[in-house]
Amino acid sequence: MKQGIHPDYKVCKVTCACGNSFETLSTKEELRLDICSACHPFFTGQQKFINRGGRVEKFKKKFNIQ
Ligand SMILES: [Zn+2]
Repeated sequence: MKQGIHPDYKVCKVTCACGNSFETLSTKEELRLDICSACHPFFTGQQKFINRGGRVEKFKKKFNIQ
């Protein structure tokens, strides 16, 4: 293994648009999300979210969901 090809991971504070925040490991110290596991319709099962239209297409694109 070569040295120096792996970035330095640090504890990253992730803040979501829904207000949820959690910590993870990242090369960045802070991240902002539009959606997280707490508000993603896939995890919440909130159908009303899906019916909003437009935004979902954006999310699908972002997460590469067909
Ligand atoms: Zn969220």
